[in-house]
Amino acid sequence: MGLGTTQALIDAIDVPAIVTDRHGQPLHSNAAANEILEQIAPSGPLFESLCVGGAATRSVPSESGTLVLDQRLIRWTARPLKGPLDGFVVFTFHDHTENESLLRQVAHLDRLASVGKDMAKIVHELNNPLTSISVAVEMLCQKGKGAQQKLLQQLQRDTARARDLARKVLAFGRVSEPRREAIDANRLALSAVELVRRQIEGGGIALRCTPDPGEPRVEGDTLELRQVLVNLLTNAQHALQEEAPRREIVVTIRSRGRRVRIDVADSGPGMAPELQGRIFELFFTTKGNGDGTGLGLSIARGIVESHGGELRVRSRVGVGTTFTIDLPAAGASVQAVDTRVESCDRLEITHSRRVLVVDDEEALTDLLREILVEAGYQVVTAATVVSALEAIEAQDFDVIMSDVRMPGLGGRDLYRLLEQKSPALLGRLVFMTGDVVSPETASFFRETNARHLAKPFRIRELNEALRSLSDR
Ligand code: ADP
Repeated sequence: MGLGTTQALIDAIDVPAIVTDRHGQPLHSNAAANEILEQIAPSGPLFESLCVGGAATRSVPSESGTLVLDQRLIRWTARPLKGPLDGFVVFTFHDHTENESLLRQVAHLDRLASVGKDMAKIVHELNNPLTSISVAVEMLCQKGKGAQQKLLQQLQRDTARARDLARKVLAFGRVSEPRREAIDANRLALSAVELVRRQIEGGGIALRCTPDPGEPRVEGDTLELRQVLVNLLTNAQHALQEEAPRREIVVTIRSRGRRVRIDVADSGPGMAPELQGRIFELFFTTKGNGDGTGLGLSIARGIVESHGGELRVRSRVGVGTTFTIDLPAAGASVQAVDTRVESCDRLEITHSRRVLVVDDEEALTDLLREILVEAGYQVVTAATVVSALEAIEAQDFDVIMSDVRMPGLGGRDLYRLLEQKSPALLGRLVFMTGDVVSPETASFFRETNARHLAKPFRIRELNEALRSLSDR
């Protein structure tokens, strides 16, 4: 038996395979392996490109390893043949990209679990004062003038940094700074699309990606931004699992002046406004049977915001959903988080007018009272669950905003007591919590599906929560 037999064998294998002589010099490759061969060893011994053995005179040992080609993770194995085929070596290649990304996601979840109670306590302590500072600065910023306005804007930037840091701690205890490198937005989106193409098209869904004709560049962490895109694509795929007349996902990259936008649009069932108001909450999911964690979108929003960008959603029931990642173009914001001046949101009045605020942190209840009253709400505050229950007995409230952890009875007790006494009020309850990483709080939110705002929150998020209640 000689090379002819080996060639026939290689051609019959359904994975990329290359046969070499004992020194790793390619003799034949099947069609699937031609592209790999061109990229890693257009000429010369294969094992040198793969760092096997070393000197060209050495024989190829039985070995395996990993290489990255076009952002895909390829595992290769070299097998020296025996008997009549002695002297030939077969290299095979397997694509492990999807397994790796799955492993990474599992590792993320493991990390979340291990962040544990201590971290929750620290973040909790930090988030209370940070919420007061953040909301107060936003409020003052609306009123300040001239030099005062400049100082307030600086304060707002610093508050944004502190808030980002706290969010990062919540986002799996990651405290190190993310990488900042120039990224080609077209390539970034295409690589995310390629990662999920097989699984999406395998489910009978059409997947298209339209790059921007220019060379849109953003600055950031490729892995993190790709994680966001993969998440949006997977969510779109889930949404399309339900029957839809057209099953299609379209990714569009657009460069507009100093912004780069990546849209992920699906023709799925869409979301009612009330649902849209909740999807960015940590642990909010509509996926039953343990299929959803409710982590994806809140982490995605955290990642995009830490890049100085925004993650927005537009959706119409029966038409579809579009998520937009809106990022500053590279150069527009080198240190996106540090230099950004956030717009000052105003609290909007909705038809929910009577609000009860329950929190043992006096500074926070005072501040919330002030801004809610200024926006036209009627506000009652309570420092304990017992006094909150007294207030509820005495009058009707459209919204009850409550902390979770308080001395004595806590937010969870308030929920259970309302469940027994006045279940209709549960739909008007919004928790404000700084310890969303603690397992008890997380499972409480999962189990009850109660609305919650993660401290430190912004006026925009407060608006979203109040609006979602008035949409009911
Ligand atoms: P999970 O996917 O684990 O539920 P996410 O935070 O990623 O968590 O999503 C939260 C919820 O947002 C989903 O459970 C779903 O109800 C809704 N959602 C997200 N993307 C879409 C979409 N493209 N179409 C319809 N609903 C969506």
